Amino acid sequence: MKETLDTDITIEAPAHTVWAILDDIARYPEWNPLVPELGGRTTVDQQVEGVLTREGMPTVPLKPTLTAIVGARELRWLSERPTPGEFRAEHYFVLDKTNDDITNLTHNEDFAGTFLEQVWEPINTLGRAAYEKMNEALKLRAESYASEKPALHPAVDGGSYASESLVGQTLRCGCACAQVEVKINGPVYHNHLCGCSKCWKPAEALLAMIAVVSGGNLEVTSGGEKLAAVDGDQKIVRYACRDCGTHMYGRVDDADHHFYGLDFIHPELVDGPAPRPEFAGFVSSLVETGTEPARMGAIRAQLSDAGIPSYDAFSPEIMDMIAWHKVKLAES
Ligand SMILES: [Zn+2]
Ligand SMILES: [Zn+2]
Repeated sequence: MKETLDTDITIEAPAHTVWAILDDIARYPEWNPLVPELGGRTTVDQQVEGVLTREGMPTVPLKPTLTAIVGARELRWLSERPTPGEFRAEHYFVLDKTNDDITNLTHNEDFAGTFLEQVWEPINTLGRAAYEKMNEALKLRAESYASEKPALHPAVDGGSYASESLVGQTLRCGCACAQVEVKINGPVYHNHLCGCSKCWKPAEALLAMIAVVSGGNLEVTSGGEKLAAVDGDQKIVRYACRDCGTHMYGRVDDADHHFYGLDFIHPELVDGPAPRPEFAGFVSSLVETGTEPARMGAIRAQLSDAGIPSYDAFSPEIMDMIAWHKVKLAES
């Protein structure tokens, strides 16, 4: 005997938001009425373990094997009784991306085996109702994530930017007194937001704000004795205030490095507004530093609303310059 339990739902959220919720099984207890518990690693061939709960049916242990993971598109797991031909159930979620903001979810389970005859009727009625309940809960959660308006950075969230150059302004650390002060004596370029794990950011910021000035244009005018290298082994050595931890500038010592001759600064440390960021780089790195993958869609939408294109490296123009720098080195 073979049967398919088929359900579907339209969700007003990006496919990668819906998928991120489905793939984050550790958070199932927060929302999933059908599979309120599932533990393990969701990579192909791994076994995960939890329980299946359907109203009117006994709660049963669940120990399926992941058979397919296609990021943002498909997730499948297979439960099978050891006796061949007895019972086999492949549970799957297929995400059809209608457009960037709408996902049609197919949530099915293919059943087969001699044992199915005894259980198909309740699966088809009570089981179906439980699947539909999960679909509704998933829709609610995904649409809630998709409508979030996350704070990006205090210097961006207000939406007002410096109208004049920062030449002559002073970067100040966060200490209440005896601040480290660094005067900017040249133009500030390539201001951007950054999601990497190395750039310093204020406590309330999701992304760092960072820009460059060309070498010789920074002058430590006060508190220089409080500056210390954060990690001298990095290509860009960041100098921070020992007392408050604010990074005051970053410098490259390797004359062959593509950023040699540039100093990195956090332009929001001046007294007035910061310059408008030209782009946001390394946005996906936020996931590696603890941001829930399901939040990424709203973060990218918020950047887009602020007129800030998001990339997962530097901007295309900087990436092209880095590539050209590699050619220069190879030919010299
Ligand atoms: Zn300080
Ligand atoms: Zn960074």
